Amino acid sequence: MKLESLRDLLVEQLQDLYDAESRITKALPKMAKAATSPALKAAFEKHLRETEGQVKRLEQVFEALGETAKTKTCKAMQGLIAEGEETISENAEPEVRDAALIASAQRVEHYEMAGYGTVRSYAKLLKEDACARLLEQTLEEEKATDEALTTLAESTINVEAV
Ligand code: FE
Ligand code: FE
Ligand code: FE
Repeated sequence: MKLESLRDLLVEQLQDLYDAESRITKALPKMAKAATSPALKAAFEKHLRETEGQVKRLEQVFEALGETAKTKTCKAMQGLIAEGEETISENAEPEVRDAALIASAQRVEHYEMAGYGTVRSYAKLLKEDACARLLEQTLEEEKATDEALTTLAESTINVEAV
């Protein structure tokens, strides 16, 4: 795809996020299964449901832009998920594995926050206000997830892993 304008770049970045989110919907159930702490399991399951909504939201954004929803392989998310899978297969004490799962999950959330912050800014600049609002909603969910994981790690999981 030739990138001639910021709009083209917006569409390409959305395709990357669309691929990333669909990969995460497949990874989160495995992370929930690998977690020992009930609170961490619940956090992953909650974010799985949110992520399914985020996939639908991206489809709404493509639709609003008059584009077909397509994916462009997100190599970064492939790598982040591969690292997460390594974590799951490592021989770790359950409390330590939980801490490592949070470390992986927060890398994913930060990658998403960077991606959604960018596309939201492009959409605003291009006066695609409905799209900007949808992307903002997802950005807020990613931020809230990141913060919830920090709280969980600092209050219990990391402490138990010590
Ligand atoms: Fe997401
Ligand atoms: Fe990417
Ligand atoms: Fe997320």
